[in-house]
Order: sequence, then C-alpha cells, then structure tokens
Amino acid sequence: MTTGNPTPWAGGQEATRPRLRGRHRCDVVVIGAGLTGLATALELLTLAPELTVRVVEADRVAAGASGRGTGLLGPRLGPSLQVARKRYGDQVARAAHLWSVAAVRTVLDLVERHRIDCDLTPGGQLVVAPDERALAHQLRERDAARLLGLPPEQVEFVDRELLPPVARRYLGGLRYGPAATLDPAALTERLARAGERLGLVVHESSQVRSVRRGLLATVVTDGGELIADQVVVAVNAYGGALAEAPAGVLGVRVQAGVTEKLSAEQLAALAGLGAEPLIEHGELAPYFRLTADGRLVVGGGAVERGPHGGLAPRPGRLLAAVRGLSPVLADVALDSTWAGPVAVTRDGLPVLGADPADPWLHRAGGCNGHGLAVSVHHGTLLARRLVGAGPSPGELPWLRPDAPWLPGGRVAGRLVDRYLDHLTAAAAPAGPRYGSAAPAASRTAVSRTENPS
Ligand SMILES: Cc1cc2nc3c(=O)[nH]c(=O)nc-3n(C[C@H](O)[C@H](O)[C@H](O)COP(=O)(O)OP(=O)(O)OC[C@H]3O[C@@H](n4cnc5c(N)ncnc54)[C@H](O)[C@@H]3O)c2cc1C
Repeated sequence: MTTGNPTPWAGGQEATRPRLRGRHRCDVVVIGAGLTGLATALELLTLAPELTVRVVEADRVAAGASGRGTGLLGPRLGPSLQVARKRYGDQVARAAHLWSVAAVRTVLDLVERHRIDCDLTPGGQLVVAPDERALAHQLRERDAARLLGLPPEQVEFVDRELLPPVARRYLGGLRYGPAATLDPAALTERLARAGERLGLVVHESSQVRSVRRGLLATVVTDGGELIADQVVVAVNAYGGALAEAPAGVLGVRVQAGVTEKLSAEQLAALAGLGAEPLIEHGELAPYFRLTADGRLVVGGGAVERGPHGGLAPRPGRLLAAVRGLSPVLADVALDSTWAGPVAVTRDGLPVLGADPADPWLHRAGGCNGHGLAVSVHHGTLLARRLVGAGPSPGELPWLRPDAPWLPGGRVAGRLVDRYLDHLTAAAAPAGPRYGSAAPAASRTAVSRTENPS
C-alpha cells in the first residue's frame, strides 16, 4: 500500500501495489485509479459486497489528474447558465446545475460515510469579476440563476463592498454552494484504501493495452488478463491508443502551484480562503485556496495540449498571481509547481454512459477541468447502473458514451496548439493585480518539481 501524504507537492510517490500477473476471472474491471474509477469500485462493493472488482492502473493510484488537482470542490457543469439556457433550454440548464450540486453532496456524503481524512473544509466558492465585462457576465448569470429557480444558497451575487477583504479590488462576485476545499490526492488514495477494506484489488503499473470482446470481456495488460462481465473505462484524458476510451475527449495540461508555509500575518490577510477559494472570472485566470497546513494553492495562467508531462509550462505566472493577490505576499516563494491533464470536450459537458454496441462497456470522463465533484458522482452513479439502478442513457445530454466529434490528426493538433497558445497569451499577467510580482532576488522563487506522469 502507498504510505505517506499523496498531496501533489509531496513528491516521491511510487507504485507499491502489485502488478497484474496471470489470468483471473472477476465481475467488474475498472480501468484507471483516479477519482472516477475508485469511486465506481468503492460504491460497487458497498452496494454489492459479493462482487469481485479489480482496478487496473497504468501508473499508481492518484498518478493522474486526481492526484494533481487543486482541491476546489464545487458545483457547475458544462457551459455557463446563460449559455446552457440558450443551447439546451431551461429544463436541461437547471438539471445540469442541480446535477453538479448533487455531485458535491455525493463527495461530502462519501467522505462522511467512509470517514475519509482529506482535510475537507466546507464553505463556498467565490468567482470574482476583475473588470466591467466580467461583472456584466456575472449579473446575467445571476439573472439566469433566478429564472431557473436556483436558490441563493446555490448561486448568489455578492456586491463589491461585501466581498472579503482579500477580494476588495474586484467589482463583484458570484458565490456558489454547496462547496468545500479538500486534498484531492488524499481523497483518491483513501477511496482506494476504503475499497480495499471491502475486498477491492488494485493493480498498479499495469497499463491496459486492449479489451478483447467475446462471450465475456478480456482486459489485457503486458503481465496478465482479467476476464469480466462488465468493464468501466475511467482513463480521463489518457485514452491514447486505448480503443475503448471515449471519443471526442481532448487531453490538455493545466498548471498549479503551492507556496511555502505562510506566516501568521500572511494567513490573517487571506482569512477565509480555506473555506472559500477565490476564483477570478476568465479563461485561465488565477484562482487560490488555503490548505489546512497554511499554504496557498494557485492555479491558472497557462495550458498546453497533451495529457503527459508534469512540469508547469509557465510557473512564473503562478508566482506572479500569488504575489499580486495581496501586498503581504510580495516576497513569498512557491515550494512546488506542477501540471496535470484535464479532459476537454467540444460542448464542455462530460461523458457518462455505456457503449451502444457493447453494453457491458461503460465510460465516464470529460469533466473539462471541474471533475473533482463530478468524477466521484459519476463513479457512484455508474456503480448503481451496474447493479441495475442509476440514470438511463439519453435522459440528459451528458448521459452518453462519447463526446461530440473533435478533429484529429497533425493539422488539427497544430490548430489546437495555436488556440491554446492564444489562450495562454491572453491570460498573460497584466494590470495592478500582478503589480507586486517582481521576484525577490535573494531566494529561489519557484522550484520546478515534476510529478511522474
Ligand atoms: C492541475 C489540476 C487542477 C485541478 N483542479 C481541480 C479543482 O480544483 N476542482 C475540480 O473540480 N477539478 C479539478 N481538476 C480536475 C480533476 O482533477 C479531474 O476532473 C478528476 O481528477 C478526474 O478524475 P479521473 O479519475 O477521471 O481521472 P484521473 O485521475 O486522471 O485518472 C485516470 C487514470 O487512468 C489511468 N489510465 C489511463 N490509461 C490507462 C490504461 N490504458 N490502463 C490503465 N490505466 C490507465 C491514468 O494513469 C490515471 O491514473 C484539476 C485537474 C488538474 C490537472
């Protein structure tokens, strides 16, 4: 079993669970040991303890996005409420938001039920408007929430003068609930351990090369084979050569970082960011939360194509964002920065469903960078589906086995690169919020720590 703290910035984690060797028969095989796969396995064994369930992981538990996340647990699914209303109508727009609220509750419930120690701090999520354009968007979003009948405790506009002191330079904000912050790597590792206590077998260092179809499915790795009735594909953006991964999902890497431990004075200036992270409105805009041990986690600023590679592409921007947040952070250093994959779909909605040609083959993924709540929720729903309950395919636009078509090949890849470069350039540090970002000459401002990918 993995020991120690799996937090992304802890580093040095290795696969310690056994590789898959030989041929075994089981009821369900889950491919991928992230939040989606492990939540599926745990819920399955909770609902039907007699099942034999194995998780097969190419690397180690929490090696993917689940172990590299920034820990903002909150609602929202797919496009903004105003876009969702136009595109899908009010019924689906409301259902999408309520789905994401249910997803947050699923995580809170799971943590409670299995007594999972992951620094969970309940609170809200505050998305703040840096300029008039963002403010106008937020006011339209508030109106859309009202028209959809969402209660203020789920979506509420916050006037500038009521923003917390650290956010006073913003023009207003939207507060979302229910929400929380937590350590996603710890949650992932502990979901695995909770499953193992119920009989789950997790194989690490066991990349699935193919799934053979027959009377039963055969999941093939270099070292062994698992023969199963049902197969769950929970590989996030790493689908790659695996034919069973959902179509229409593109892997891109986003970056994050964490500061050294902050002083009492610094923590006082950031009070509230533990329970309520601050998210600046806008593509790749910075966002912040405090950890239980008094560090500031920061994300945003750059994005690159491809799921593999653990180095933050632009770590300087993370530092600049931190130092621009408050004058008390003018001299702070980042202890660690890293990157991880998010699975992007053309319409921004995830994927959850069985393959129509092979109903024993289930897929969940495509959470577009907001999957902390949704991936766990989808895992538990998938488990319910496997034992005969759960949502039916096609009821809602994201209940589907694949995402809408995305162009592939080298030309399309280059176009995507150009678009992502453009996004990254547009997110370049500018204006007073980054004003105090000059690196302190006397210290290593950013240490580039790579997580294995
Ligand atoms: C830097 C960063 C910050 C983020 N912050 C947040 C946040 O604050 N809030 C939020 O809601 N979401 C956030 N996310 C998104 C969230 O982490 C993901 O949506 C979620 O973890 C996805 O979980 P998963 O189980 O689907 O994928 P993963 O955790 O990526 O798991 C997939 C697993 O499948 C394995 N795999 C792939 N192919 C194979 C194969 N062929 N055989 C065997 N195994 C295979 C991989 O090795 C991997 O371990 C963030 C993501 C990143 C990268």
